[in-house]
Amino acid sequence: MTMKKTYSQSTLALHAGYEFDTQRTISVPIYQNTAYSFENLQQAKARFGLEELGNIYSRLTNPTVDILQRRLASVEGGAFAVCTSSGSAALFYALVNCAQNGDNVIYSNKIYGGSQTLFCHTLKRFGIEARVFDIDDIENSLPKVIDSNTKAIFFESLSNPQISIADVEKITQIAKKHQIISICDNTVATPFLHHPFEFGVDVVTHSLSKYVNGQGNALGGIIIERDGLNAFIKGNARYGAFNTPDASYHGLVYADLDLPIFSIRVLIEWLRNIGATLSPQNAWLILQGLETLNLRITQHSQNALKVAEFLEQHSNIGEVSYPGLSKNPYYPLLKKYFKNSYASGLLSFEAKDYEHAQSICNHVEIFKIVANLGDSKSLIIHPASTTHSQLNADELKDAGITPSTVRLSIGLECAQDLIEDLKQAIEK
Ligand SMILES: *Cc1c(COP(=O)(O)O)cnc(C)c1O
Repeated sequence: MTMKKTYSQSTLALHAGYEFDTQRTISVPIYQNTAYSFENLQQAKARFGLEELGNIYSRLTNPTVDILQRRLASVEGGAFAVCTSSGSAALFYALVNCAQNGDNVIYSNKIYGGSQTLFCHTLKRFGIEARVFDIDDIENSLPKVIDSNTKAIFFESLSNPQISIADVEKITQIAKKHQIISICDNTVATPFLHHPFEFGVDVVTHSLSKYVNGQGNALGGIIIERDGLNAFIKGNARYGAFNTPDASYHGLVYADLDLPIFSIRVLIEWLRNIGATLSPQNAWLILQGLETLNLRITQHSQNALKVAEFLEQHSNIGEVSYPGLSKNPYYPLLKKYFKNSYASGLLSFEAKDYEHAQSICNHVEIFKIVANLGDSKSLIIHPASTTHSQLNADELKDAGITPSTVRLSIGLECAQDLIEDLKQAIEK
């Protein structure tokens, strides 16, 4: 259904993007299908020439994936979206859609470990330099690293694993002033707690493998572009790739298209030629998650706050990092940018020392030792010996992690059960 924009997000999450086919199935059908039959050769020609939009091959588009794209674009308040096989692929495609060999991109110092490696190591192999700015000192650190070859500014709205909140408007004001595309990873916040587009962000990415799927059973990613991004890119000297003929697609100039050009280029350049495409099965699983995301993220947030309040008053526990606590330095930003001041389900705390942190992980019963987040089940991890074990002491400190840090992803269990489980493990 092409839905009016006036419906609320929770309604859109259930209905947007799906028009009944002849079978009128109430559950979205899974189009388990690779290629599509053209009515005649003229239609095939029109589709390849982008004169008619439609299915050609599932590496580019698939009806089940398309429903998820339309639905999430509408829930996020964006213009158009393209799914990928994982959140990591979404970020990579979004970045190479902006920058190429000889360019640079800027990233926040507090981001997901895999994304950090992409910036620091992988992009370099493609000739793209990555420069870092301090998310807690935006005015001083961000303008300094911008130059005429800067093509994107990337940050996370609620960062994983350091659990900080970005002052989004400060970043987008600087990006706009310099005519640079801003990209926000909204994975941990989800579209139900935070709306990056309302604060001037150009492109939102998500790992759909986390809260949107919500049950730890499918990987996926998405790139969503804002309304009006075409006008920002068209004629913008930084984005030559959109404004000059593309030899890989018979001299097509993206800026001349009357289509959402950021997404169309992700399709034509990156999905078509590299192919980290979301499968229809996984799109369907993620659609099931999206239907209840609003309810779940509320419960994750309420449970996490109760657990954080318990940990905060426990005498064997040091600092507790959770932006939902009024003492947390990010609490004012949470109030400004997040719905109901809900802070999602991620939190971390300091055990007495390395051994105590390990002992807590080994003595919990409900919490499972898992390097993931956003599952319906509660998860625990000791970053210093697992996800961040490659970092040296200085790098650990820069990443906001100590040998005694324990990270929790709070699930949907009864909060009191979680608190009792942690209490017995802490006091062992
Ligand atoms: C997990 C995660 C990613 C990577 O997503 P995958 O779907 O695992 O590839 C990117 N950003 C954030 C914030 C994440 O938590």
